[in-house]
Amino acid sequence: MSIKIQPEAIANLRGFELPERLGFGTVMAPVMFRARYEDGCWSSGELVPYAPLMLDPAAKVLHYAQSCFEGLKAYRNGSGAALFRPERNAARMQHSAERLCMPPVPESLFMEGVRTVTAYCANLIPANSGESLYLRPFLIGTQPDLSVTASSAYDFYVIASPSAAYHPGNMRLWIEREDSRAAVGGTGDSKVGGNYAASLQSIARLKERGYDQSLWLSPSNRQTVDELSGMNFFAVMDGVLHTPALNGSILEGVTRDSLLTLAREMDIEVHERDIDIDDLLALVRSGTCSEAFACGTAAIVSPISELGDDNGNYKLNSAPGPVAEKLRAALLDIQEGRSEDRFGWIQRVEAAES
Ligand SMILES: *Cc1c(COP(=O)(O)O)cnc(C)c1O
Repeated sequence: MSIKIQPEAIANLRGFELPERLGFGTVMAPVMFRARYEDGCWSSGELVPYAPLMLDPAAKVLHYAQSCFEGLKAYRNGSGAALFRPERNAARMQHSAERLCMPPVPESLFMEGVRTVTAYCANLIPANSGESLYLRPFLIGTQPDLSVTASSAYDFYVIASPSAAYHPGNMRLWIEREDSRAAVGGTGDSKVGGNYAASLQSIARLKERGYDQSLWLSPSNRQTVDELSGMNFFAVMDGVLHTPALNGSILEGVTRDSLLTLAREMDIEVHERDIDIDDLLALVRSGTCSEAFACGTAAIVSPISELGDDNGNYKLNSAPGPVAEKLRAALLDIQEGRSEDRFGWIQRVEAAES
């Protein structure tokens, strides 16, 4: 497959100036990657100007939510950029696509999209620690047809956002005992927009009570901890790191896996297991659970200062705690090239001439 670079895309890049204030995921790079799927085949990829999509109002994605996405970061690395474990995102997007009966984007096409956007936007990557080019690949069903069957046509895009470091600060979590974000046998372990739509009502309710994020329980028992709406959950008890075991309704985070690997390397004991919410609250009360944090690509590691529900508040002793700080620093050191890439997590991308 050969990739087409539209001259208008290059013109857009030449005319683009990075604004002073970036935020996270707000400023969009002026180019995007596109490939189309039709009649059982993928087109070759193109780099095109960033622009609104032309979609038929009957496109399946708008009615039946055939849509999945990924999120990963490119960091500035010398004259080029570094991607962090992008093959994990490629594999996860294939898993999400299959769950929604969409054609999985071949790993080679996914990587071409991510690498092309990164190469052409390398000069737009801000350079301070924690800053990055946030990449958002996504796949949508475009066939205009209201019958409830899988779409016959799909678009794969990669858009990108030069972003500041994302620090949600210490988070207060509301234990969500009413709603579920994902069903047993549903799409909880897939990265699909529908899971996020199902989480928004809870977030709106808890903001009124002064909380920041929902802590979701397993939809099968409403008693063990799953995760946050877009981040995985960790707790430290007596110096041991605990995180919910993957159970089908938890999204398998790349950050989660990376932190588990780094913790084992630091000789921190790690348990992937079912965490009962009432046991956890009792351990927070007694101080045995000394810290808790959430993790994901955007914020890396976010300390949790408090858990709450209708029965009251449960404050964590330290936020950020020492384990969270140590893991965050170790991961960022690898991502930003300050420590050796001993697990083969980094893929370099050279800047393209534009
Ligand atoms: C994306 C996501 C995460 C974090 O995954 P990373 O690969 O670490 O960014 C966690 N939970 C949910 C529900 C997500 O959508």
